[in-house]
Amino acid sequence: MTASVLKEKLAARIRAHGPITIADYMATCLADPEVGYYITRDPFGTKGDFTTAPEVSQMFGELIGAFCLQAYLDLGEPDSFQLVELGPGRGTLMADLLRTASLRPEFVEAAGLCLVETSPALRKVQAKTLEKAPLVPVFYDRFADVPGGPLILVANEFFDALPIHQYVKTADGWRERMIGLSETGELCFGVGTGRLDDTELPPETQNAPEGTILETQPAANAIAQEIGTRLARHGGAALIIDYGYLKTATGDSLQALYKHTHDDVLAHPGEADLTAHVNFEVLARAARGGGATPLPPLEQGEFLLRLGLLERAGALGSDKSHAVQEAIRDAVERLAAPDQMGTLFKVLALSGDGRALAPFDM
Ligand code: SAH
Repeated sequence: MTASVLKEKLAARIRAHGPITIADYMATCLADPEVGYYITRDPFGTKGDFTTAPEVSQMFGELIGAFCLQAYLDLGEPDSFQLVELGPGRGTLMADLLRTASLRPEFVEAAGLCLVETSPALRKVQAKTLEKAPLVPVFYDRFADVPGGPLILVANEFFDALPIHQYVKTADGWRERMIGLSETGELCFGVGTGRLDDTELPPETQNAPEGTILETQPAANAIAQEIGTRLARHGGAALIIDYGYLKTATGDSLQALYKHTHDDVLAHPGEADLTAHVNFEVLARAARGGGATPLPPLEQGEFLLRLGLLERAGALGSDKSHAVQEAIRDAVERLAAPDQMGTLFKVLALSGDGRALAPFDM
């Protein structure tokens, strides 16, 4: 089955049942069991559609390993805990994280490694990447299936892949943005009958001009709340890294990436990656609703520098060739520079019992 078949499948569904929500479109494109984007391929790296931070440099996962190790020590070195990653991609972050965290063998002895991943193709890649790791991963389809107990959880570029809904301000209030068919049978955007409950509207939306778009991400919020509940009940820490905004803002952030370039969102269903910016304000509120304490988020650049990115780069480059040192300097730039991933990406830490988590402020 090819992805143009997915376009046809979507068109047939719209002809039969009417326009679909953006959330429905996103979920189908990314996770259709036969032709979904993540289900069928390994999208990362120079040959794929995009490159994530752990694929830029091992330093990223190593520094997150340092965060996890410190969190484990701060928890009083529990005898057992669940080390969870949501959406592990190629498994690179976890492999690098475990190398650093293994500096304390008790960490590995106490940890159960839980990978939450829906894609069979990526599960295979993750198992291969972690072949020599000190822990054997157990795979889960959903976070809710992960066993109980203290939790140390990381998620990098996971929440941006979860479906969003969009609402458009019209003369008749906020109405849900939908995807239907044009007269020529092509997928096209339209406005549906669904409405946003006024009580859900943030103050930023008052006086918004017609045509303004507001996004919601109920699937992401439900997971954040569940993480908050687990953290409050069993203790632990969570680290959520993604691009997005710290304060609720209006605007259309839905984007498609196809072979490293921006693409029309409706052009290649199932063949292009679809993402949306994460609303960290709402995500933090959901986690707090579950009982956890969100700490003030940091930008990725600041987070990595506080954890010792420059020191790690220096150590990694010492005694290496000029070319290797140059590549390490490039990686530092990409991960932390404001015009690269440094400020667009945000890091949210959640604490189970409200205690401090280095390197975050209270
Ligand atoms: N964290 C990785 C990969 C990010 S891409 C990195 O930084 O490189 C998003 C990942 O989340 C992929 O592994 C994808 O298969 C997975 N994923 C997307 N939607 C998911 C869902 N609903 N449940 C579980 N995993 C999901």
